[in-house]
Amino acid sequence: MRDRVTLACTECKQRNYISSKNKKNNTERIELKKYCKFCKTHTTHRETK
Ligand SMILES: [Zn+2]
Repeated sequence: MRDRVTLACTECKQRNYISSKNKKNNTERIELKKYCKFCKTHTTHRETK
C-alpha cells in the first residue's frame, strides 16, 4: 500500500523531495514545510504526481 510521492515547492514548483506514504493512513495530499534550495528558505512542499 505504499505509494511513492514527489514533494514540490509551492513557490517555485521545483521537485525537491521524494517520499513515500501509506495510503491507508494518509489519504489526503501531504503538505510539509521543507527547505527549498532554490528559494533559499523554508517553503511549503506539496505532494505531486
Ligand atoms: Zn522553492
